[in-house]
Amino acid sequence: MNITINKTTTPKAKPTDETQLGFGRIFSDHMFVMEYDEGQWHSPRIEPFADLSISPAAMVLHYGQEIFEGMKAYRTPENKIQLFRPEENFKRMNISAQRSVIPEVPVEDSLQALEELIKIDHEWIPKAEGASLYIRPFIFAADPFIGVRPSNKYYYIIFTSPVGAYYSTGLNPVSIYVEENYVRAVKGGMGYAKAGGNYAASLLGQKEAQAQKFEQVLWLDGVERKYIEEVGAMNVFFIIDNEVITPELSGSILPGITRMSVIELCRKWGMKVTERKLSADEVFDAYDKGVLNEVFGTGTAAVVSPVGVLKRGERVITINDKKIGDVSQRLYDTLTGIQYGRIADDMKWTKQLIINN
Ligand SMILES: *Cc1c(COP(=O)(O)O)cnc(C)c1O
Repeated sequence: MNITINKTTTPKAKPTDETQLGFGRIFSDHMFVMEYDEGQWHSPRIEPFADLSISPAAMVLHYGQEIFEGMKAYRTPENKIQLFRPEENFKRMNISAQRSVIPEVPVEDSLQALEELIKIDHEWIPKAEGASLYIRPFIFAADPFIGVRPSNKYYYIIFTSPVGAYYSTGLNPVSIYVEENYVRAVKGGMGYAKAGGNYAASLLGQKEAQAQKFEQVLWLDGVERKYIEEVGAMNVFFIIDNEVITPELSGSILPGITRMSVIELCRKWGMKVTERKLSADEVFDAYDKGVLNEVFGTGTAAVVSPVGVLKRGERVITINDKKIGDVSQRLYDTLTGIQYGRIADDMKWTKQLIINN
């Protein structure tokens, strides 16, 4: 792929206080853009990050035909830049594309686009402890047409955003409740795709949870309202009697790359890991028997997010004394250690970028 490069002549000032970055509000100088028309991706380019001009009739604005990815670039202690399993994100983007009738992009092309973009904007990768450059690839339908059908025109964009440490005061266990009113996705729907529409479906539950001072909701399956699926926009793990259990990928669960990595690490450490259906009843039974050891969510943003309080109806339980469990902590330390190049990457998960200038 031959990417045209048009660098900004007015670079923005970079954030001076990297402890105040927060998440997702600051954007680097450039973005990658590619368009799809007449059955082909064309005009790949890197250009200054700027507003887009699209028709108010652009299909994405009406019917939500859009998919995205989320990943990070990390700075190592030796000042090298690395990505974490980026090919897995771009493979998953193509799975999301198929489900959304969006044209796929060859994984090598996405990797090339991302690497060239990061090489140009590498100075935007923060140096502060725990900070990173969040990467947002996405594709949306742009036909100016309000009939309902798959679009013929698409934009594929990748932009990046320096983000601060997710945990400023160590891994803080969160409070969650079992969501009984709403579901995020159902089998046969879009749950396994990283699609904007899934997030639209999750917002009301999230809002009501926060109004009750809970951080997240624990989603149940949409059919029987019995089996656990995800926590907020993260995958979820339970350690019951020293067995690591996570809901099996049933079609309504997003196959997280952190989830996959946690499974691989726990197996490597000799732990028993099971992907299967797990009901909310079983979790509360395990608590009653005193064998609910740990509960945590996993995702790129938080890596590992321990759950300290779990509510269901009138029942509220406290997990591991609202403290971080040993396995959660070890997973967090190992994953972030590999991502930031502080520990050896035995799993060959990272990809270093060569920056020459
Ligand atoms: C992105 C996402 C995850 C986590 O996936 P990672 O690849 O680990 O970041 C989990 N659930 C949902 C709904 C998601 O959108």
